[in-house]
Amino acid sequence: MALTVGVLKETFPDERRVALTPKVFDVLQKLGADVWVEAGAGVQAGFPDADYAAKGAHVASADEVRGNASILLQVRAPQPDGLKGRACIAFCDPLSNPDIAAKYAAAGATLISMEMVPRISRAQSMDALSSMASIAGYKAVILAAASLPRLFPMMTTAAGTIPPARVLVIGAGVAGLQAIATARRLGSVVSGFDVRSAVREQIESLGAKFVDINLGGAKAEGEGGYAKALDEEALRLQRQQMATFMAEQDVVITTAAVPGKKAPVLISAEMVRAMAPGSVIVDLAAERGGNCELTKCGETVVEHGVTILGPANLPSTVPSHASQMSARNIVTLLKQLVQAGALNLATSDEITRESLIAANGEVVHPKIQALLGVNV
Ligand code: NAD
Repeated sequence: MALTVGVLKETFPDERRVALTPKVFDVLQKLGADVWVEAGAGVQAGFPDADYAAKGAHVASADEVRGNASILLQVRAPQPDGLKGRACIAFCDPLSNPDIAAKYAAAGATLISMEMVPRISRAQSMDALSSMASIAGYKAVILAAASLPRLFPMMTTAAGTIPPARVLVIGAGVAGLQAIATARRLGSVVSGFDVRSAVREQIESLGAKFVDINLGGAKAEGEGGYAKALDEEALRLQRQQMATFMAEQDVVITTAAVPGKKAPVLISAEMVRAMAPGSVIVDLAAERGGNCELTKCGETVVEHGVTILGPANLPSTVPSHASQMSARNIVTLLKQLVQAGALNLATSDEITRESLIAANGEVVHPKIQALLGVNV
């Protein structure tokens, strides 16, 4: 049986990425896949229909794609209407939005989540969260530099010496480390902080200073290398010790997150007030409630002369490379899941077990079952 895969145009507001790019057709060809792409699906990411057609894809209407493809590859999982008996591999944020799993189960469709691919060495080439976080970290610094009324690098000119900008990055996971590296490349003096102690060395190896904060002995290491949510007292200690240091910064970039939880509030309105007018905060946790009390998701607000950016979906603002990277991650996962022209969803394999959310009319992932209060 021939493997048929399809790509629909993304319908989420302002989503410019596309799940497949012409470059990854090498993998699809090796799998013997027949590929259906909705006309215009790649246009906003810079990939015209002709580029897909040249790789042998059928460029067709949405109905034709749905009708012919047994596996849809999407950036964001569409609603499962009309997908009975079909599978979708996509970002779907099931830890924050478990309802999508229930909807796929009820529709008799299979859902595989890019976010849930385990972060084990064998799955590194499928780790789309890391690809997208790297882009977000880079772009956060570019946005900060464009909003700051000062220069990032030190400049010694005949008109005098300009000191370098001071940048603090709070939360040094994948996005934060990329932000640190980018801010350093632009010539600023960078400091970083993360609650996970292993990160100190990573921050320092990028030439940034680690900010020492005493969290009163709170345990911050969770499972799988992620952070654990801190209690309110530890967060209060963090804010208190961060306040003076933050007041001396030109730019603060926050990326702090705990999987499946609302983002911790690390910057109070009072801490913003203590910053110099013209300073900039870029809150990469805006979509999860924000690390700064004053952040508004998708908006730029100016409070006490401080500009606070709460960008949503930064990877979509770099749609060409974001699509190229996530497409490579998606087809690598597809390759892992396909056997003899069809999906093999045996959960004996850790990658399948962790990324499979709904199948055979049921929500199958224990964490999502628990969130929905079913089968537990
Ligand atoms: P994330 O997006 O979940 O969180 C971002 C950062 O916020 C994390 O570093 C976290 O420690 C930090 N954080 C949480 N609460 C905080 C607080 N109160 N103050 C300051 N910082 C806070 O994390 P991520 O970028 O997705 O990566 C997290 C982990 O996953 C890291 O250990 C990383 O090394 C690991 N990882 C492993 C692999 C792999 O093995 N293949 C791939 C990617 C990432």
